[in-house]
Parts: sequence; C-alpha cells; structure tokens
Amino acid sequence: MVSHSEPPKEDLSAVALEHTIDEANALINGTSDVPKIQELDASKLVVTLADPNARQVPDEATANAASETICTDHMVTVSYNVESGWGVPELKPYGPISLMPTASVLHYATECFEGLKVFRGFDGKLRLFRPNLNAKRLLMSTLRIALPGFDPVEVEKLIAKLVAVDGAKWLPKDRPGSFLYIRPAVIGTQPQLGVQAPKQALLFITVSFMPRMDSPAGGMRLHTNPEDMIRAWVGGFGYAKVGANYGPSLLATNEARARGFHQILWLYGKEAYCTEAGASNFFIVWRAKESEGGKLQLLTAPLDDKLILDGVTRRSVLELAKARLAGEVEVVERRYTIDEVIEADKEGRIVEAFAAGTAFFIAPVSQIHHRGTDVHIPLGENDSGVYTTKIKSWMKDIMYGNEQHEWGVVINEE
Ligand SMILES: *Cc1c(COP(=O)(O)O)cnc(C)c1O
Repeated sequence: MVSHSEPPKEDLSAVALEHTIDEANALINGTSDVPKIQELDASKLVVTLADPNARQVPDEATANAASETICTDHMVTVSYNVESGWGVPELKPYGPISLMPTASVLHYATECFEGLKVFRGFDGKLRLFRPNLNAKRLLMSTLRIALPGFDPVEVEKLIAKLVAVDGAKWLPKDRPGSFLYIRPAVIGTQPQLGVQAPKQALLFITVSFMPRMDSPAGGMRLHTNPEDMIRAWVGGFGYAKVGANYGPSLLATNEARARGFHQILWLYGKEAYCTEAGASNFFIVWRAKESEGGKLQLLTAPLDDKLILDGVTRRSVLELAKARLAGEVEVVERRYTIDEVIEADKEGRIVEAFAAGTAFFIAPVSQIHHRGTDVHIPLGENDSGVYTTKIKSWMKDIMYGNEQHEWGVVINEE
C-alpha cells in the first residue's frame, strides 16, 4: 500500500500567496488571459481643492487631545469594480465616505491598511521614509484578503501627491522636526451579504495628526498575553496588515492597561516564543551566554514563520545595525522564548529592549511581566539605552534630512 502520510514539502500558505501575486502581476502586466481591466493609474488623478481658509491648522497638542483624529484638508479615493477595474483617482476635500450597511468590509473584515509618516525636515524639505515598502506591503495585504491588486508604484504616487498638496499648510516650514501620519487603506465595498471576494472596493488615503509615542515616561511596560489569547498563528495572517488582526487583540490590551502596562508582548506556541509588542516589532539587546560566544547581540523574531509583520522600522533597524554596528553588535533574527529572556535577566545579560514601528517609532522598553515574573530592563541616560538612542538618532537624521539618504524620499511641494 502506498502511504500518503508524508507532509507536503512546501508551505501551502506561501504558495497560495505567491500564486495570487503572480496572477495580479500578470493582470497588471497585461500578460494574462484574463480580460484586461483598468489598472490603477495615478496620472489620471482628478483634483478638487478645498477652500484653504475653511479650516485652521491646530497646534500638535490641541490636535492630539481631540477624541477624533484630525485629518488634513484633503484625501485620496479610488474605487474599483470587477467589470471595469480601478476608477479615476480623486484628490478631494476630506470628509465622510458612504457605504451600504451590507458592505463586505462591515461583515467580513475585508480591510487592510498601511501607516507611514511624512516629515518636515530641518532643511525645510518634506520627506517620506521608504514609502515603496509600505506600498508593496499594502499590495500583499490586499491580495491576502482577496481584494483587487494594483501596481504599488501608483499608490506611492498618490501618497506623494496628497502630501505635496497638504504639506505646506499642515506641516509648515516653521515646524521643522514635525510629522503627520499617512493612512492608506483598502476595503471591500460590495453591498451584498454572503462570504465571498467583494466585486467592489475602495482605496483611500488620509493624512492626520498622531501623538508622539516614542518616549513613554519610565519606558514602555509590556505584559505577556493571557494563555488563552494569541495574536497570530502559523498558517494565519499575522504577517499582513489586515484589520482582522487588531480588533480581537484589544481585549488583552485593555486588561494589560488596567494592570498598568502599555502593550501586550505576544508569545506564540507552547514554547512561548516572543513575537511582537502590540502593533510594533520587538527588539532586545543582550549579551549571549558565554557557552554561545558571549557576544553582544541585537535580537528580534524572524519573518519566515509568517507570524509577525515585516515592519519597515524593523527592517531599517536591522539594516542600520548591520551596516553601522558591525563588529560591535551581532544582528540575530531567530525564534527565542520568554524563558530565555527571563534567564538572561537573572544572569544580568539584558542590556536594552525597545519596540519599533511607525506609530511608536523606537520606544524604549523598561519592563516585561510574564505570569508573576518581572523582567526589569535598564533604561540608561535620558530614559533610553545607548544602542536604542544611536539607532533612533540615525533614523531621525534620515527622516528629517540631517543625513541625505536614499530612504528619505523628498517630496516636491505644490
Ligand atoms: C504596523 C505594524 C508594525 C510596524 O510596522 P512598520 O512598518 O515599522 O510601521 C509591527 N507590527 C504590527 C503588528 C503592525 O501592525
């Protein structure tokens, strides 16, 4: 008898994903047999400007104290339907969008998003930070939830156009060192109940204020997840920025907040591997065990099991550390458990820890609580460790134009 018990060699979720991207690209390149639909085309943009005097720009503190996110004067929208493809992109006054109560997104979480910032440099210039990576990730997330594909370069152009229009007023040159937050999103809008890939979608982009969250007083305090709640699982969609990852995480986050912590450190599996901190990637600087070489290491969870988000900040931290701390700090991406962290703490080997993501930027972590055990991490001078501070200032220099670098994409303003 032939046995079929051997597991398939390939990772099926990866295969499925690549398959869809291939199909989408074939469509975009016009090399598919599928009838050619209208591709997303930023050059077709139709602009309707708001009255520039209708709204005044609040100062940062007032804007961030509001219970509603304060957006700039304009937004971009592009609608899609399966018959005609992507419609004409519009740049128009910021305001409500209208959906039927039966819209796919409201029932089946056909939503994904991105988050990036636009910076007003100390040289007066407006910059995006590696926006090509956000646009590509938006495509990946979009395809993961069966929404229509697009050429990410077109999304990048729409983002650039929107900040070019709103930059001068909302991120004025007399506020160097400031930023605004850009939120592109894609939703399924088809007004039909039934679990199916929506035949209509909407891509929209807003620009808004967002509080600075990179230096919580006394450092960020993390609480591990309750044993019966996980954020992501192998074969799931933790690697995609889909809305479905976030709503279900809020209960654990609320419980952690009630206990005086800021975010959940999400663990995975019976081994309790450390994965992410809230919606940020998580890093530890520690000294490896003597038996393992005793080197100073910058450690973070790997991407290959698809549990965590491939953060732009994460990638940048790793690339900068490899380039600029070579010989001093070894960069390690591997699975590691909370027990290893607790053991390192007992042996006095933990040097620093931080959370990294667009929203939190690089936020020093001072404490991890795991089922009755506390790990206290030294914060160092000015509440930020030496390496945390170094990496953060390199990134800031690129974002705000103190260092000319290909990651800082200058926007020509209107
Ligand atoms: C957005 C996000 C991050 C950070 O990604 P960046 O590209 O650095 O902003 C990390 N983890 C999760 C779960 C996220 O949603």
